[in-house]
Amino acid sequence: MIRFPVGRDGYRWIGKTNWSCFVVSLCCVVISGIGGIRVSVADHSGVVDTSGVVDTSSVVDTSARAKNKGKSLSCWDALRGLGVKAKRARAQGVTDAVEIPETLGAVTYRGYGQPKTLILDCSLALSLAIAAPYFAAQGITRVRYSSAYQRRFIRGTKRLSHHSFGLAIDLHTFSGDVLGTLTIRDDYEQGLGDVSNCLGNPLTENGLVLRKLWCQLSSSQLFRIILGPDFDADHYNHFHVEALPWSERSDRSLISERLIAGTRSNAH
Ligand SMILES: [Zn+2]
Repeated sequence: MIRFPVGRDGYRWIGKTNWSCFVVSLCCVVISGIGGIRVSVADHSGVVDTSGVVDTSSVVDTSARAKNKGKSLSCWDALRGLGVKAKRARAQGVTDAVEIPETLGAVTYRGYGQPKTLILDCSLALSLAIAAPYFAAQGITRVRYSSAYQRRFIRGTKRLSHHSFGLAIDLHTFSGDVLGTLTIRDDYEQGLGDVSNCLGNPLTENGLVLRKLWCQLSSSQLFRIILGPDFDADHYNHFHVEALPWSERSDRSLISERLIAGTRSNAH
């Protein structure tokens, strides 16, 4: 049996230990309250809902999805379709640069000592917008980041970091009115979890919140990779959150179909 958490207090058993079945199980994140559009878009293979807080019911009926099968929006259209008030931008090395507002979904992003403008590749902006319910599920409404779009090499190499392409952002602190402020540096507990139980057994409430967030972001398949303190010493104080370019994403059609279907159903 695989167990995974439904909340701070316990676990629910979801099936026999058959990882392949688990990997192909579907989980839908319902995006609501973003520009008034209600559509589930994160129906990604391998998604593990590790909190039980996010509504995993699909709001798009299967016949509507079938009608739109194979249709793919541009990232820009998908982002706008979600109701994100982005602007087109220009940034060296960024394929599809967008300037995004401080708030994506219900989450406000603020940088340390950077211009207020947050420039990202559209693909990362879209993933963060879709992932907003994961943050909200943990009571997180404000995020502080350090590096977002920034032309630089990966430390100790001559290879450009994905920050150079607007495809990565470093998240340091997470705040909410009830939650208070949590930092990766002080509150993240290292060495937890394994392949069958991502969460592990955090010792503190704050550690649990951050571990849940890490597990949800990592398993959502909205991102190419999430690196944190468990990866190496360079990440002791932040989550490096990185997306694939839109053209390389296998979930383009899925996101597009759901957005198109959701928009249509809203029009009724
Ligand atoms: Zn980074």
